[in-house]
Amino acid sequence: MATGKINVSVENIFPLIKKFLYSDHEIFLRELISNATDATTKLKHLYSIGEAKGEYGNPMIEIKIDQEGKKIHIIDQGVGMTAEEVEKYINQVAFSGAEEFLEKYKDSAKDAGIIGHFGLGFYSAFMVASQVEIITKSYKDEPAAHWICDGSPEFNLLPSTKNDRGTEVILHIAADSEEFLEEYRIKELLTKYNKFMPVPIKFGTKTETSKVGEGEDAKEESKEVDNIINNPHPAWTKAPADLTTEDYNNFYRELYPMQFDEPLFHIHLNVDYPFNLTGILYFPKLSPDLQMQKDKIQLYQNQVYVTDNVEGIVPEFLTMLKGVIDSPDIPLNVSRSYLQADGNVKKIANYITKKVSDKLKALITENRADFESKWNDIKIVLEYGMLSEAKFFEKAGDFFLYPTVNQTYFTLQELKDKITETQTDKEGNLIVLYASNADAQHTYIAEAQGKGYEVLLLDSPIVAHLIQKLESENDKLKFVRVDADHVDNLIKKGEEAVSVLNEDEKKQLQESLEEVISKQTYTIQFQPMSADASPFMITRPEFMRRMKEMSAHGGGGMFGMGNLPDMFNLVVNTNHPLVHNLLHSTDKEKQNQQIKQALDIAKLSQNLLKGEELTAFVKRSFEMMN
Ligand code: ADP
Ligand code: MG
Repeated sequence: MATGKINVSVENIFPLIKKFLYSDHEIFLRELISNATDATTKLKHLYSIGEAKGEYGNPMIEIKIDQEGKKIHIIDQGVGMTAEEVEKYINQVAFSGAEEFLEKYKDSAKDAGIIGHFGLGFYSAFMVASQVEIITKSYKDEPAAHWICDGSPEFNLLPSTKNDRGTEVILHIAADSEEFLEEYRIKELLTKYNKFMPVPIKFGTKTETSKVGEGEDAKEESKEVDNIINNPHPAWTKAPADLTTEDYNNFYRELYPMQFDEPLFHIHLNVDYPFNLTGILYFPKLSPDLQMQKDKIQLYQNQVYVTDNVEGIVPEFLTMLKGVIDSPDIPLNVSRSYLQADGNVKKIANYITKKVSDKLKALITENRADFESKWNDIKIVLEYGMLSEAKFFEKAGDFFLYPTVNQTYFTLQELKDKITETQTDKEGNLIVLYASNADAQHTYIAEAQGKGYEVLLLDSPIVAHLIQKLESENDKLKFVRVDADHVDNLIKKGEEAVSVLNEDEKKQLQESLEEVISKQTYTIQFQPMSADASPFMITRPEFMRRMKEMSAHGGGGMFGMGNLPDMFNLVVNTNHPLVHNLLHSTDKEKQNQQIKQALDIAKLSQNLLKGEELTAFVKRSFEMMN
């Protein structure tokens, strides 16, 4: 047996880094600006602890394009490097000076916001450059250095005459990357990745006009000023106490310049133990196309933009929100599925869920009327949350609202209190009546309201799932859509009406009805109801309809129900005079006509009469009037 060391030579590794380390070539600029930012942040820190002397000034980072020379310059006024440091930090691939700095200044610098991590960022320059130069002068009193490398492991390190502190990186752009010499392309990258970085970034100049002088002598004066492309102090880095609602709304527009709606409200995130995370989430007005809403939350690390795909980090139901999350503690160099198993990431998701429920609770407590007015725009997100996150479901009791068809809003507890005396069935269940469409179910709603019952309006596409969940979590609570049965059969009231028909009469009536009405679609039910209730009524049992809905809106395959047939009840009020007339009719043809007519009217009030049937009904109605 032999042991040894595998010899990996730089010649082999280098092209690999170049090709495969980053799939996205455009991130070279983000990496180099991150290094320039780190160099400036480090300098600031060294001044703050008295290790660097002299003038700190107002350091900025400048990006310049030299189209003729086919070069991009990234210039900073940060710590710089001595020749020795260039050897150490640049020539040793995968040696991170950022990590070393943090290790050295452990106690004082841990919150300084240093970005670098793996010691590989710098080499992303070779994805777009055929040659890279570094001209750098350290804040320490040492000569400047000039490093030149063409992407092979050979490099040149020479002295330089640079005499101001800082680093200039020069990229000689390769033939296949000349797009990056276009001003608009660099501008695009700066806006995407660097918009909120903590050090001012200059890209060209712009003309600024101002008024000089007074009265008659006043004139417009224009001058060239630095064009700073970033906001180094974005709202999420500030304390909530220092921000007004207007500040939050302004920041929303800064994030989404093309978004014209104001956000409904915001949630400021700020935690530093056991993980570090800041950010602001906004509840936007949702558009009907929920898919469009996704991927709007931007993820940053130390103010550097990373991605707008927060899947796995933010709970699924909150990906419909907008805003920013900034956390250096999210390991993004791993696959998404690995990410979801990461302990920190799970804690982050739980923290966000908790903050969102706390905020919703605070909003409803502070201003109930305002919260109710926003309900329609936020309910979908909350419904998804209740279905997908057990913790959120638990908390939702405090703020989830159930609106009635008359726009009165109840929490579940308020609703229970309201109906506990009046809306129960024979088994003692609380019966929550609801409608899904106030117009289509008007007849049934009017009937229930006429008897003094509350009718909710629950019209979301996933409401069947939510109801199912609510029933399983609340003992003796039953949701029934108003048209599932006649209200008198749903809700127990004093004594029951007695049928005036005897068994023989019922049998005879059944036979007459079945000559006209299809048994496949309608189950005939005889119900003794009051004489002022409808004679014929079509209902659809709650259970049947819910199964059908749930199979239509996802989960259908899961239950293996495929395409359920439409099945209804035809409820016949055995105490209605019309039903008695029908039963005792001697003219068979007239009897059939009347049954057809009664059925069609019942269908009409359920919005079930369409096409040829509707035409026949209209024709028959006129004939009968004649
Ligand atoms: P990381 O940023 O992860 O440490 P990089 O490959 O991006 O790794 O950079 C390697 C090191 O080179 C940095 O940690 C830093 O010490 C040094 N460095 C790179 N760019 C600069 C710069 N503009 N000014 C000063 N030092 C720099
Ligand atoms: Mg770096």
